[in-house]
Amino acid sequence: MRRVGVFGGTFDPIHFGHLRAALELYEGLQFDEVRLVPASVPPHRDEPGVESGQRLAMVEAAISGQPGFVIDERELRREGPSYMVDTLQSIRDDFGNVSLSLLMGLDAFLGLPRWHRWERIPQLAHIVVAHRPGWHLDDAEEAEQTAVQLLEERRSDPAILQERTAGGIVLQAVTPLAISATAIRRLIGEGRSARYLIPDAVWHMIEKDQLYR
Ligand code: ATP
Repeated sequence: MRRVGVFGGTFDPIHFGHLRAALELYEGLQFDEVRLVPASVPPHRDEPGVESGQRLAMVEAAISGQPGFVIDERELRREGPSYMVDTLQSIRDDFGNVSLSLLMGLDAFLGLPRWHRWERIPQLAHIVVAHRPGWHLDDAEEAEQTAVQLLEERRSDPAILQERTAGGIVLQAVTPLAISATAIRRLIGEGRSARYLIPDAVWHMIEKDQLYR
């Protein structure tokens, strides 16, 4: 069964925390492809720091030449808020009976029960949760208990990705990189360099267009 991973984010900007996690999940769980999906209007947060065309161009530059990585622009083409449930439904409609997985960091997973129609998501896809520094299941707060419970109910061995098309939750360790886009925007805002936290090609675009100043 073909295995498709979906990695959504604001990518404001894309950084090595995203890229390394995506690559390790791609290789470790043997996805045929990982689709990076930049969000246009993220429903759960403030407006992105730079407009979507530039965020998209940075993702393009970052993954250039990486086999198996594909950009999926459907959230940028859609009107209105970028709800992941709509994105997964639309990918499911396009791809049919593949094994589909939503890839996310543990921070994002713990917030999943706040997402629009989140209960539908495990019916549309597996969820692969990557460890993220600073986030632990044991310290989950009251508001995050629904996600912890979902994990307990559906936690599966990675073999489920080849046995079923959706419904499992796989927790996967990746090299911990304590990098966040927020910290990168702050650094640049303070006039400091973000080099070595992001691909050089992305850094050059940020410098050239004076982004996040
Ligand atoms: P911001 O700081 O602006 O909130 P971010 O760095 O968290 O941004 P997003 O674009 O919001 O990046 O995240 C997209 C996805 O990437 C989420 O599922 C998030 O958990 C995951 N992710 C981001 N940074 C890392 C990291 N350093 N390690 C593992 N996963 C990460």
